[in-house]
Amino acid sequence: MIILVINCGSSSIKYQLLDMKSDDVYDLLAKGLVEKIGLPEGTIRHRPSGKEGFVRDLPIPDHVVGMKLVMDALVDPVYGVLKSFSDVEAVGHRIVQGADFFSGSALVDEDVLSKIEFCCDFAPLHNPAHLLGIHAVTDVLPDVPQVVTFDTAFHQTMEPYAYMYALPWEYYEKYRIRRYGAHGTSHQYVSQRGARLAGLDLGHSKIITCHIGNGSSVTAIKDGKCVDTSMGFTPLEGMIMGTRCGIIDANIIPYIMKKEGLTPAQMTEIMNKKSGFLGLSGVSSDARDMNDLALAGNKKAKIVLKKLTYDIVKLVGGYIAEMNGVDLIVFTAGIGENNPRLRRRVCEQLAYMGVKIDNEVNDAARGEEVIFSTPDSTVKVALIPTDEELVIARDTMRIVSTLEE
Ligand code: AMP
Repeated sequence: MIILVINCGSSSIKYQLLDMKSDDVYDLLAKGLVEKIGLPEGTIRHRPSGKEGFVRDLPIPDHVVGMKLVMDALVDPVYGVLKSFSDVEAVGHRIVQGADFFSGSALVDEDVLSKIEFCCDFAPLHNPAHLLGIHAVTDVLPDVPQVVTFDTAFHQTMEPYAYMYALPWEYYEKYRIRRYGAHGTSHQYVSQRGARLAGLDLGHSKIITCHIGNGSSVTAIKDGKCVDTSMGFTPLEGMIMGTRCGIIDANIIPYIMKKEGLTPAQMTEIMNKKSGFLGLSGVSSDARDMNDLALAGNKKAKIVLKKLTYDIVKLVGGYIAEMNGVDLIVFTAGIGENNPRLRRRVCEQLAYMGVKIDNEVNDAARGEEVIFSTPDSTVKVALIPTDEELVIARDTMRIVSTLEE
């Protein structure tokens, strides 16, 4: 089944075209990125498998034009990989927020659309863009079934004591304020792959997954189900991130707003876009820049990197206690997959409970599935590159196949 996987941001469309033969057998036909939608000059980068791609700069006024560019690239006589639009059999979309409406992926219909719309308030930067993407696909491929996969769905198995904030209960009832988590598709994927690689029975296992990228979260997974995760009502809660502050004393928020005369929107922008590595260092939100600056002796960058390790260790340690043990710890995403030093630092803090890693294997581990704990380590530790698009494609195939039966 030829499936187009779409991840729409407010000004971008990431796409992958996969030929899914089964859950584990598939070909990646092409991938690409449309950027700067709505700005005077946009860009499309198209990378077909097995041949040259292209980068083109041109105005892309909205997501419908962006989707048309994607489809044109896919059927282009030189750079394309399909003969016609009608070869696309289904489209799968990544959706950041599904709140407690969705514990799994769903076929797009009016009811699903209205629930995604309801959740726009919880993810104002993401859900409106996802809706634009769904409508743009409907415009270009009106008869093709569309499936939505939610970043929040995997976390729906959390118990109320893990997802409730200790605020007056009425806010939960009136406004659905509770913890939803995020990156669920990634945590689910890397825990399943990790269990397989480590020879664990997922249904009888305790796994902690560390998705450490520009956005970061840590999740505790018992017997294949999420029991806790570090992100909350929105993807702001939890640990330090590229531009997000993570957990802070909530009283700081009205205090800064009052002192600086800020609106709620301005304060939200500061906590989401101007904090984290960027806010502390004052220079960059990128972990590579933090490494370079720290090596050059920059004190703030050193604090950023120490805090990154410290936050992960606190979360992992807490989840070990919560699950009364752990069999496997997995690292994934941009930083988790590419920064052996960070992985070593986190594991060193777990040496007290018998976690031992092979430094040579860890240092060489980049972008490939590998266990880098030693055979006598009490806990296995693995690097698993995440693949959210594959999960979306699998779910899309599963749901669309049942329609055809
Ligand atoms: P993500 O959000 O998963 O794409 O991760 C982005 C983060 O991963 C950025 O902070 C990057 O600095 C970091 N990252 C990506 N590639 C590398 C690399 N090769 N070495 C170190 N950090 C990397």
